[in-house]
Amino acid sequence: MAKIIDGKQIAAELRAELKEKVAAFAAEAGCLPGLAVILVGEDPASQVYVRNKIRGCEEVGIQSFCYRLPESVSEAQLKSLICELNDDPHVDGILVQLPLPRHLDEQRILACIAVEKDVDGFHVQNAGNLMLGQEGLTPCTPAGCIRLIESTGISIEGKHAVVIGRSNIVGKPMALLLLQKNATVTVCHSRTRDLGGITRQADILVSAVGKADFVTADMVKPGAVVIDVGMNRKEGKLCGDVAFDEVFPVAGFLTPVPGGVGPMTIAMLLSNTLKAARSHG
Ligand code: NAP
Repeated sequence: MAKIIDGKQIAAELRAELKEKVAAFAAEAGCLPGLAVILVGEDPASQVYVRNKIRGCEEVGIQSFCYRLPESVSEAQLKSLICELNDDPHVDGILVQLPLPRHLDEQRILACIAVEKDVDGFHVQNAGNLMLGQEGLTPCTPAGCIRLIESTGISIEGKHAVVIGRSNIVGKPMALLLLQKNATVTVCHSRTRDLGGITRQADILVSAVGKADFVTADMVKPGAVVIDVGMNRKEGKLCGDVAFDEVFPVAGFLTPVPGGVGPMTIAMLLSNTLKAARSHG
């Protein structure tokens, strides 16, 4: 039977630590760290994510500034807001909630965020820093996954880690972080042949696909650490990529959905905001 990795609890501990660090920062700097969140349109899932991020800020003492823009906002208007926030000394971190409406070019928009305020870690320069193993702001979800793996007490070094998914926001940075921790990393995607044959070799298996019940028991090596990044709906209920009930008896450690990776993503965002505030001096 797998041990459940309690992301909710680990994230709560992290937020408690951050609260103290934020207070110490505020005492020294004479101001609170500030996070600006930009939400475009009315996507219900994005609204929930933004609400949770703002709630997280309140809990640890980070000041938040929420900008809600209509679906019809132009790229020029959005860029102009980002430029203002880049220059605003009260704002240490800027987050543009994705996905953006189709008429807005995500890469061009993200490129406008000042690198040192890019708390999502999606700017091309932060992506490059991660690639090169240099200091920078790291994408929150993969960074949270590393914390969850480390919480098991199992060393990542030398392990075979398999990541399913190669998106710029989860799969690729996840693979790079695991590589930095000296895992032997395999990245799988929709064109991968014999996916189960590869995942069965994984000591650490991270699934970031976005399909319910995608990872079945026969794809998991007995005793493996399984991290489920997926956020899907099945019969109206939130679930991950992993067929939880059947994988639970096989895996060594397993993250639940909800209560696994999701809360860690927000905790790492708060951590990045404090890091950005410190780096602004
Ligand atoms: P994405 O951009 O859609 O990427 C999905 C990846 O899965 C792609 O690389 C795709 O391969 C791969 N894939 C699709 N079908 C596959 C198959 N049959 N076999 C192997 N690989 C397959 O999604 P994402 O943004 O990375 O997000 C992935 C999931 O994580 C989603 O459910 C999302 O909601 C969730 N998520 C959760 C959090 C959190 O905080 N918990 C944060 C971010 C995302 P190709 O590249 O070949 O198309």
